[in-house]
Amino acid sequence: MNDAIDTPRTILVTGAAGFVGSHLCERLLARGHRVMAVDNLSTGDIGHLDQLLGHKGFTFHRRDVCLEPTPEMAQADRIFNLACPASPAYYQTAPVDTVLSSVLGAWRLLELAQQAGARLLHTSTSEVYGDPECHPQHEDYWGHVNPNGARSCYDEGKRCAEAMLMAYHQERGVDVRMARIFNTYGPRLRPGDGRVVSNFIVQALQGDDLTIYGDGMQTRSFCYVDDTVRALLLLMDGAHLGPINVGNPGEHTMLALAEMILRLTGSRSRLVFRPLPQDDPKRRCPDIGRAKALLGWEPEVALEDGLRRTIEHFRGVLGMRSVTVA
Ligand code: NAD
Ligand code: UDP
Repeated sequence: MNDAIDTPRTILVTGAAGFVGSHLCERLLARGHRVMAVDNLSTGDIGHLDQLLGHKGFTFHRRDVCLEPTPEMAQADRIFNLACPASPAYYQTAPVDTVLSSVLGAWRLLELAQQAGARLLHTSTSEVYGDPECHPQHEDYWGHVNPNGARSCYDEGKRCAEAMLMAYHQERGVDVRMARIFNTYGPRLRPGDGRVVSNFIVQALQGDDLTIYGDGMQTRSFCYVDDTVRALLLLMDGAHLGPINVGNPGEHTMLALAEMILRLTGSRSRLVFRPLPQDDPKRRCPDIGRAKALLGWEPEVALEDGLRRTIEHFRGVLGMRSVTVA
C-alpha cells in the first residue's frame, strides 16, 4: 500500500479501538496525519492502540459518540465513523446501545461535520440488504430487512444512518461518503467477539468443537482487513459519495470455511451443529463493480492467505489464556 504523505490532516476516527478502527488509525498515522481517536470501549480494546498511544500525532478520547462532540473534535477536517458494535452475538445483547450508536451517533457527527466543514465517511454494512432476494448484491438493491427482528437494531440503525447522511448532504450540503462493508476479518478480531472467523479459529486452536449454526450451507464473502481499510481510504479521498460495496466477491459456505480453518490450523476438532439464529441471511456476496470502476479498488488478499495471518495472530493471543467464544 502506498503510504506517501498526502495533505496532512486532522482526522477523527470513532470506533478507533475496535477491530477495523485500530487498523485504520495505524494506516492514517503512517500517512502522516494527526489522528483523534474516540471510543467508548464497549466492544473495543484499548490494547489494540498500545503501539499508537506514544505517537505524537495520536490522541485517544474515551467517549460515546451519542454525546455532544467536544470543541476539540471540531478541529477535524475528516471524520471516519466506525462507532457501532458489529458482531451479531454482541449487538443482540445490547440492541438499544446499538441502534443509538448508529442513529444518534450519525446525527451527532453530521452536525459536527456541518459545523466544522469536515468530510464524514460512514461505515454502513451489507446488512442493509438484509436476507437478500437478489444475488450478488448491487448498491441499487433496496434490501429485504425485518424492521423489528433480532437483527433490526443493527440493520435498521445502519439504514437510518444512511438516510440521515443523504438528508444532510442534500439539504445542507454536508460532504459525506458511505461504505457498505461486507464481512471483514483479520488480526485483532477479539477472541470472544462471536463472529464466525474468530469463533472457528479459537475453537480449532483450542481443540473445541466448531459450532456450525444451521446446516452450514449459508454463505458469506470474507474480506481481509487491509483490503477493507484501503477501500475506506480511497473512498474518503475520492470524489464519489457512494454508497459503495466494500467486500471480497469470493463466496463460501460456513461448512467450507470451517473445513478450511481445520486444515490450516491442523486441528482435529469436530464440527457440531447448533440452531440457526433468527433472520440469519442465507446468502451474501458483494457486486464490487462500482468500487472497481470508481475507486480502482479490488481485494488483493486471498482467503487462505488472510486466514493464515489471522491464525498466527490468534496463536499469539491464545498462547496466554483460554477463551470461551460468544
Ligand atoms: P468492533 O465492534 O470491533 O468495533 C466497533 C468499535 O466501536 C468498538 O471499539 C466499540 O467500543 C466502539 N463503539 C461502539 N459503540 C460506540 C459508541 N456509542 N461510542 C463510541 N464508540 C463506540 O467492530 P468492527 O468490525 O471494527 O466494525 C467497525 C465498523 O464497521 C462498525 O460500524 C461496523 O458496523 C462496520 N462494519 C464492519 C464489518 C465487519 O465485518 N467488520 C462489516 C460491516 C460493517
Ligand atoms: N456462524 C456459525 N458459527 C459461529 C458463528 C457464526 O455458523 O460460531 C454463522 C452465522 O450463523 C452466520 C455466519 O456464520 O450465518 C456469519 O456470522 P457472523 O456472526 O460472523 O456475521 P454475520 O454475517 O451474520 O453478520
